[in-house]
Amino acid sequence: MPKRPSRRDLIAAAGVTAALATTAKAQPKAKETAMPASDHVGFAIVGLGKLSLTQLIPALKKTKSAKLVAVVSGHPEKARKVAAENGLPADAVYGYDDYDRIAKDPRIQVVYIVLPNALHAEHTIKAFKAGKHVLCEKPMATTIADAEAMIAAAKAAQRQLMIAYRCHYEPMNLDVMRRLRSQSLGKVRQINTTMGRQADPSDPSDAWRLDLKLSGNGALGDMGVYGVSAARYLLNEEPIAVQAWAQTDRSDPRFKETEDLINWQFRFLSGVIANGSTSFNYAATMAFEAICEQGRLVADPAAFYGGNRLTVVEGGQAQPPVPAPAGDQFAREMDWMADVVRGKAPMVSPGEEGLQDMRLMEAILESAAKDGATVKTDWGYRRAVDPAKVVDAKA
Ligand code: NDP
Repeated sequence: MPKRPSRRDLIAAAGVTAALATTAKAQPKAKETAMPASDHVGFAIVGLGKLSLTQLIPALKKTKSAKLVAVVSGHPEKARKVAAENGLPADAVYGYDDYDRIAKDPRIQVVYIVLPNALHAEHTIKAFKAGKHVLCEKPMATTIADAEAMIAAAKAAQRQLMIAYRCHYEPMNLDVMRRLRSQSLGKVRQINTTMGRQADPSDPSDAWRLDLKLSGNGALGDMGVYGVSAARYLLNEEPIAVQAWAQTDRSDPRFKETEDLINWQFRFLSGVIANGSTSFNYAATMAFEAICEQGRLVADPAAFYGGNRLTVVEGGQAQPPVPAPAGDQFAREMDWMADVVRGKAPMVSPGEEGLQDMRLMEAILESAAKDGATVKTDWGYRRAVDPAKVVDAKA
């Protein structure tokens, strides 16, 4: 049988780093951390898996403000090799057992958590106890209690907690947000998001994603979270209710513990409806569409690492697709975090954003378990900073 294409097989690596906005307002003050002699902000990468090795560490060669200064891994040989390849000294390699020693390492200001989802909370909280800022991969955690504990730990330490929502910093997504805010095609009526792929249980990176304890909820937290988040940032509004349905073939060995196909429908006070879908058993897709009164914005792909493409359909006519400007999303995101730490940029994707998506995903699963029963979701959360207003904002 031919090997199923993974998401990564289908994702093109992105090109050069794009410039960050310098127009952003000053960040509310977090406690200052000792700055190293260099004016770069030092990043430690925790977990040397696929994302770290194929995207983040290469992106740290293109960043303007962020710099790789340490690695944390359970495999010392791999870690030493990665450190040597990246010009790091031997004492910049940590294991999980001596991770707490980072407290004494002034080179490290930001700890970037790139571990299986269930390990995010523990390593984030330890990093705050060590006095570091944290950039944490999505989904933020596997339980709401863990997500809340991460936010509380950041507050107690007076340090920044940013969730690595790269689409908040990606030019095509920002372009769509701005077009929708300007109502150039009239008001938005409907959003559709489809985020999924085929999971490959023989790939260790997917094996933990199919394990309920390590991933939290399978495809929903891994891929669906992009759609949950996109509906919210496209509209700059929060859902007031959700209905959801799941379709899972339990005879497929991949889905012993997690759901496979999940479809949901968010309702918003403005009257917009957002349909979302995720699966670990359909062809790779990361796309969304915004249907407005006078036209449609079709982003397909919308959230690949590179090669995202927007088609504007107006008066029934599709205009030539607009390719996303060249740039490395991960470099942009890490530079943004570095600027937040230096007080040069506002926090756009704080822990509260990750928590909101966690709560909405729990509501989706609750509704799906009740075969589409309505679950109310207007618990009062409002985004503090609209990415469309600050990221790459024109002066
Ligand atoms: P991988 O499985 O490829 O890497 C995870 C790494 O974590 C491992 O290589 C290992 O590194 C370390 N680790 C520590 N404990 C365990 C354990 N019990 N089981 C497995 N690994 C362990 O995962 P990814 O790199 O694909 O994903 C990591 C995180 O990044 C996830 O939260 C994921 O959701 C997120 N992600 C985000 C993406 C984005 O676009 N923003 C894209 C892909 C992933 P070591 O050997 O060094 O200890």
